[in-house]
Amino acid sequence: MRTLVLDQGYQPHRVVDWRRAVTMLFDGKVEVLEEYDEAIWKSATVVMRMPAVVRLLRRVRGKRSIKFSRINVAMRDDFACQYCGRRLPLKQLTYDHVVPRSKGGPTRWENIVMACYPCNERKADRTPREAGMTLRTKPVKPTGLPVIAFRIERSGSIPEAWASWLYWNVELESD
Ligand SMILES: [Zn+2]
Repeated sequence: MRTLVLDQGYQPHRVVDWRRAVTMLFDGKVEVLEEYDEAIWKSATVVMRMPAVVRLLRRVRGKRSIKFSRINVAMRDDFACQYCGRRLPLKQLTYDHVVPRSKGGPTRWENIVMACYPCNERKADRTPREAGMTLRTKPVKPTGLPVIAFRIERSGSIPEAWASWLYWNVELESD
């Protein structure tokens, strides 16, 4: 069994063997966010279960690169649709290729913005100019988000306990 380690900012940091996660827990380095059903040990009153997701209590040192992911695009765009400006919950936002893929628009920081579903549908397969829509800000690659590069191993299955911590952190396929 493997344990997903998040950094202090709840971004996936690395994957470790569950025994390593237990050591980190006893060393006071992490807190447990999700557990597997399997018990490691139990007494009359306490059951300790295998940790599935843990979070580092201290900041990770070192250079950080900004991952190109939905959550980071959303953070850059302040959780607002870049066409109508409405701030919305994450699940009501999607990402939009400013220059559509069909017209050669790349999947890159500079060509991806958050959009609400109605604006995204209205814009359809057109550039903002063609659709008569205006971008609120010019999309750029941010320099200072509290995130760390992380790739999910494509082979091997992702434990269910990790799912909610991973979806918004999955690296977008960039060109
Ligand atoms: Zn909108």
